[in-house]
Amino acid sequence: MTSFIREVALASFALVLWVGVSQAASTLRLDYVHSGNALVENYALDRLVIEPQPWPGNPARPIDATNRGANLFEVVDPADGTVLYSRGFSTVFAEWRTTEEAQKLSRAFQESLRLPLPEKPVRVRVLSRDERNAFSVVWSIDVDPSAPDIERKTGPAPAQPIAIRHNGPSERKVDLLILGDGYTAAEAGKFTADAKRLSDRLFATTPFRERADDFNVWALMVATPQSGISRPSTGAYRWSALGTRYDIFGRERYALTLDNRAFRDIAQFAPYEFVEILFNNETYGGGGIFGQFSTAAAGSEWAEYLFIHEFGHHFAALADEYYTSPVAYQSGTARPEPWEPNVTALHDPSRLKWLGKVKQGTPLPTPWPKAEFEKYQRAYQKERSQLRAANKPESEMNALFRRERDFTDKLLANKEFSDRIGAFEGANYQASGYYRSQMQCIMFSRTDHFCDVCADAIEAIIDLYSR
Ligand SMILES: [Zn+2]
Repeated sequence: MTSFIREVALASFALVLWVGVSQAASTLRLDYVHSGNALVENYALDRLVIEPQPWPGNPARPIDATNRGANLFEVVDPADGTVLYSRGFSTVFAEWRTTEEAQKLSRAFQESLRLPLPEKPVRVRVLSRDERNAFSVVWSIDVDPSAPDIERKTGPAPAQPIAIRHNGPSERKVDLLILGDGYTAAEAGKFTADAKRLSDRLFATTPFRERADDFNVWALMVATPQSGISRPSTGAYRWSALGTRYDIFGRERYALTLDNRAFRDIAQFAPYEFVEILFNNETYGGGGIFGQFSTAAAGSEWAEYLFIHEFGHHFAALADEYYTSPVAYQSGTARPEPWEPNVTALHDPSRLKWLGKVKQGTPLPTPWPKAEFEKYQRAYQKERSQLRAANKPESEMNALFRRERDFTDKLLANKEFSDRIGAFEGANYQASGYYRSQMQCIMFSRTDHFCDVCADAIEAIIDLYSR
């Protein structure tokens, strides 16, 4: 009887959500396994969970029309096909698929979709992009909110979230959750200070600065017995609650958790739409997956840059505009127009996606000191990999990074098109065939600001959760 009453209550909350009334629905999480290799991919249901926190989403904006992400999921009324809710996202699986390992073996990754608990049965569809970047359905599953095997009870919260910034009810604010990993119980104060310091820096950066009132920020950590996270390439292994570690896909600086279940089971105790995991290490590293989470080494001298750059990937699906650092991904020779808002293949300059921001008379492509930049980068990248291979102290790496940033800042300042929006060749991990919109951007170098095109792309996502 009690469960029946709860059902009716949940259904009526969900109903008011769907018709756009600002009242909290429950949050339904669909956990699934995404497996395969370079050639095939499979989706399989793991479990359905009703999270302990109410739905934090914006009832005024159920449909995501921003065209971001390698994937899109849609919640559909099976009777008439009406799309009730949708969100773009990307996956760790899709990144792994482009590595050499995916040519040789199959692997499985846990992933989650979160949606407001519907009042009646719905169909959840996952869409994926084809080679021309158009979406088509790759998985479809019917979800009955009254099904008895939905998990409706969670265990006690392992820790309580702290509100670092609170500007209003979650459904009209972007809820950013900062999770700590690799902090001991004695380091809880350090975690809170790191979360405040780095989020303050984010909100000092355009366009987050101008839109700071549209955010709530929460901090939550589960203590670990030892300080720091695993860094297998140096033989450092640690248990941590979220499972964040370095050396993802064989890249020393790439840090993610592949333990989605552990991550979601902790995150669910705070209101959240976006998550940045701060890990308690000094070694440079981080990562970011659109719609999943981003990570940053809180103890690195470059933590502010890492936090903001990786958050750009996670929050707005921004592409990397840099192209001289080694990455794990293999790319083909074809150059289809990328779906990411901040890079282009420039197949037709008259249809450039940010053409409206280009001043008349700006040449496309736009000249910049590319040869000089690349000459310096070749020597710098060599030195960087030598320092890591020799396991030199982080202070030597930091000094190298400072020299590199100073060189790049000086080289790209006071040139004819330094402040112009155009199409500068070199982006998206490729020296040729892909272009970025400005010479400098935090997605390109360790500068302190986003280019105008990235800032606009970020604002569109802020709107989706707050307006
Ligand atoms: Zn940019």
